[in-house]
Amino acid sequence: MSPSLIANNDTKFHSVALYLVWVLLLGLLLPLTAGMIITLEHERRELEEGLADFHQETLKTLVESTEDAMLSFSPEGVSNTVQFLLRDERIVSIEVFSAIFDLYLMKVSKEIFEQQFDSVTLREVVSKDGEELGYVQVTVDRSWIVPRIEAERNSIFLLFLAMFLGALLLVLPTIYFKILKPLNRLKKQAEVLSAGELGIACEWQGRDELSMLGRTLDDMRSRLDENFKTMKDIAVTDELTGLPNRRGFNSEVARLMYLSSRYNHPLSIAMLDLDYFKEVNDTYGHGMGDEVLIEFSRLVCSRIRNTDLFARIGGEEFILVMPETSVKVAAQVLFELKEVVAQNVFPHGKKLTVSIGMTEYSGVENVGQLLETADKALYEAKEKGRDRVVVYPAPALI
Ligand code: GH3
Ligand code: MG
Ligand code: MG
Repeated sequence: MSPSLIANNDTKFHSVALYLVWVLLLGLLLPLTAGMIITLEHERRELEEGLADFHQETLKTLVESTEDAMLSFSPEGVSNTVQFLLRDERIVSIEVFSAIFDLYLMKVSKEIFEQQFDSVTLREVVSKDGEELGYVQVTVDRSWIVPRIEAERNSIFLLFLAMFLGALLLVLPTIYFKILKPLNRLKKQAEVLSAGELGIACEWQGRDELSMLGRTLDDMRSRLDENFKTMKDIAVTDELTGLPNRRGFNSEVARLMYLSSRYNHPLSIAMLDLDYFKEVNDTYGHGMGDEVLIEFSRLVCSRIRNTDLFARIGGEEFILVMPETSVKVAAQVLFELKEVVAQNVFPHGKKLTVSIGMTEYSGVENVGQLLETADKALYEAKEKGRDRVVVYPAPALI
C-alpha cells in the first residue's frame, strides 16, 4: 500500500493501523503473559509447600506412633498407622527401623516407584530420653504436583485467554471505528484534494478531533473551490466590459466548433473593429475611450442571442461566434448591427462606425484558420472604406 499522497513525501508507507494493532497486541499480551507466569509460579510454589508440609506432618505422625512399637519391637503397633498413611497417593514408601534390634519394623513401598517417580525422602531419628530408638523414613512422590500444575496452568491460561479476547473485543472496534476508519476517510479526502477535485464535498458529523480535522479540510476545500472559481472567472473575463477575453473565447469556441462539426450545423464567426477608435482616445482621453468600448459591448449584446459567444480579444477588437446560424442569416444580423452602431450616439457625444469581417465554419478548419479568414475579411472591410460587413470566402455584397 503506497498512496500517492504519502509517497510524495516518503516512499516507505507506515500504516497507523498496523502500528496500533502491534501496540495493542504487545500492550495486552505482555502484561497478561507476565500475570499468567506469576500466577502459575505462585500456584506451583503453593503446591510444593503443601507437599513439603504434608511430608513433615506424615513424618511427625509416624515418629509419634512408632516410639512404643520400637521399644517393644512390635510391627503390629505401627502397621495400622503405616497402612493408613500409605493410602495417601503422595506417599510412595515408608520405612520404620529399630536401632535397638537392628531390624526393620516396617518397610513398605508402592510398586515400581523407583523408576517412575521423582521422589523426595525424609528421615527422622526416633529417640526417647536421649536414647536413639531407630528412625522413620518417608518418601513422597514429587511428581504428584505435575498434573495439578498442568490443570492449574490450563485453567489459568483459559482465564487469561478470555481476558485477552474480551479486551480485544472491546478495544478493536473502538480503534477501528474511532481511529482507523476516520483516518482512512481523511486520507481519501486529502487525496481527492491533492488531485485537484475541489467540487467533491466530504461531510463529517462527529465531535472528535479527527472529525474536526475532516471538517476543517472540507472548509478549506470549499474556500479553495470558491477562490479558484473566482480566479477562473477573472482569468477568462475582460475586466472592462465583462465579456469573455481571448482566453475565455479560446476555451468556449472549441466546444461550439466541435458541436457544429459533429451535428453538421452551421456556425458563423465575425471579427468587429471600431473605426478610427484611436481618435476617440486622442480627443477625449483614455477614460472616455473605455466608456465607448463599454457602450459598444452593451449595444452588441442587446442584439445577439444568449447562445452566441461575444468576446473582446484585443483593444477595440471583438469576435462574435454565432452557432446554428448560416452565413446568410449572420450577415443580415451583422448588417443590422452595423446600422444600429452607426446610428448610436456614444458617451463622447459622437457617432462611430464599425467594420466587420465574417466567415462560416466548414467543419474542418481549426480556430486559427477560421480567425485568419475572418481577419482577412475585416482587413478588406477596412480597406474598402470601413463601416461595412465583408463575408469571406463568399462573394456576398452587403
Ligand atoms: P481603424 O479604423 O483602422 O481600426 O483605426 P483605429 O484607430 O480604430 O485603430 P488602431 O488599431 O490604430 O487603434 C486602436 C486604439 O485602441 C489604439 C489603442 O490606444 C486603443 N485601445 C486599445 N485598448 C484600449 C482600451 O482598453 N481602452 C481604450 N480607451 N483604448 C484602447
Ligand atoms: Mg479600430
Ligand atoms: Mg484595431
